[in-house]
Formats: sequence, C-alpha cells, structure tokens
Amino acid sequence: MIEPKDGAVRRAVAPVICYSVSDLPQPNLGLYLNAAEGAVLVAKATAAPREAACIEVPAGSFLRITSVEGPQVGDLNLFNAGDLSEQFYSGKTRALHGTHVTTGDRLWSSFPHLRPMATIVADTLGWYGIDEYGGSVHDVIGTRCDPYTGRLLRGSDYHNCCHSNLTRAFADYLGLSLADAEPYIHDVLNVFMCTGFTRDTGQYFMKASPVRPDDYIEFFAEIDLLAVMSACPGGDCGSEHTSDSAPCHPLQMSVRTPSPLVLEGWSSPMPNAYSGSHGRV
Ligand SMILES: [Zn+2]
Repeated sequence: MIEPKDGAVRRAVAPVICYSVSDLPQPNLGLYLNAAEGAVLVAKATAAPREAACIEVPAGSFLRITSVEGPQVGDLNLFNAGDLSEQFYSGKTRALHGTHVTTGDRLWSSFPHLRPMATIVADTLGWYGIDEYGGSVHDVIGTRCDPYTGRLLRGSDYHNCCHSNLTRAFADYLGLSLADAEPYIHDVLNVFMCTGFTRDTGQYFMKASPVRPDDYIEFFAEIDLLAVMSACPGGDCGSEHTSDSAPCHPLQMSVRTPSPLVLEGWSSPMPNAYSGSHGRV
C-alpha cells in the first residue's frame, strides 16, 4: 500500500464531533428523580436465563432492570406500545450520545418519529467509565446475538440467541406467529454488557461484565413503551455467546409509577417535526 506524500498531514486533521448533544432538548432530570422517589411498583417480569420477557411501561413511569443471582447481560428492545412501527434506534442513539449510554442519556426512536423514548435516570455501573481497553458498559454498538451469524461462523443452529429469545417473547405476548414477529426485532441496547472496539484492528470486543446482583439501570418512559428483554446466552459475556456453555442468570424488570402530581408540567415529547416531504411538494 503506497501512502501519499501528504498522508501524515491528512491523518493529523483534528476530528469534529458529529452531533452536539447540548443542542438537543434536555431532559429535566431533577423532575424525574423527584418523581422516582415516591414511585410505586406496579408490574414485574423476569427474563429467565436464555429466554426473554415483555413488560409494558406507561409514559411517565420508570422501568428498572436489575441484576439478580449473578452477572448477566441483557438485550433490550423498545417499542411504542401504541404503534409498534416506532422502535428503538440504536444507531442514532449511538451517533448522538456515543458508543455507551448512562444517566442523562436518552434512547431515541426510529424515523420518522425520532424522539426520546426513554431517559436513563439511574445507573449503578456509572462508576465504570471507560477502561484501559476502551471498554465501557451499556453499549449501543452491538446488534444482538442471532442464529444467522452463528450459522455463518459455526455451521450449526442455536435457538436461544437473543434475537430468537426476543422473537419468541414478542410473538407470544402479542399473539403473533414467529414469522410475523421476527421483522419487529431490532438492534438492542446491550444492558450491563461491557464492550468496545480494539484499537489495533477496530474489532468489536466484549469482556466480563462488571455487573453484580442488585446493580440496576433505570429509565423514565417518555412515551408508552413495550419493553422486551432477553437474558443473553453469553451470561456475563466474558467468554462466548451463541451456546449453552456460559453460566446464565435471570434479569428482572420492574415498573414503578409516580403520582401524576409530581410530573406536573411534563408531557410526552412530540414526534419529530420534520415535514416528511423529502424536498417534493
Ligand atoms: Zn445475546
């Protein structure tokens, strides 16, 4: 490979941040945290190891995902409960907030809606930061483990990847066939997963999650949500996934609802205001 004479100069150009997060509408975290204090438990669901579970989270309520029994990674899909075509958009969330999310970051929905679906209000792994390998927790860079990639790499079928777990749970919850349910399953928020990209080869890596029982991440639902979460067959994702070899643990989802009085002045964000004309009248 021949490098041009000015290669070093081209390489030395300083990067610019693509999107200024400070230009986004800012969440009122103080209001949310105040509301969280008096919120009461209204629903619970547990994703069994190598399975997924669904739970509905009304707008203005809190969804907490808690590690129980042992270190475990979860793959989370989010839908507008009233319009399943509006789904979590991991790629745009990554472009806006970075490769990993924590308290104050928001989970954005797909086009043409592009609005905050949820805001992270608590993260007991927020202390982890970015480690010496460039790894961090709760990524929006992975997709979800799936049987198709497993087939490509290993030549065999495995049926308890997150993609399949999410598909079965979503289908059962909504009374759909697997074929009708599967197209709804989308790239996830990798809850508790510790990941990054190697600096030398740029490859996606994972390492054992620092999560321990009782750690949790909590979201404020900006709109009515249907959450579907899989307890990844990779367990803490310290060795491998797409098999039954890793120790796996359940993950708990709980929904808490505050008094409407404490959310006075708050309302769900409106769908994106872009006209949708794409330049044609
Ligand atoms: Zn997985």
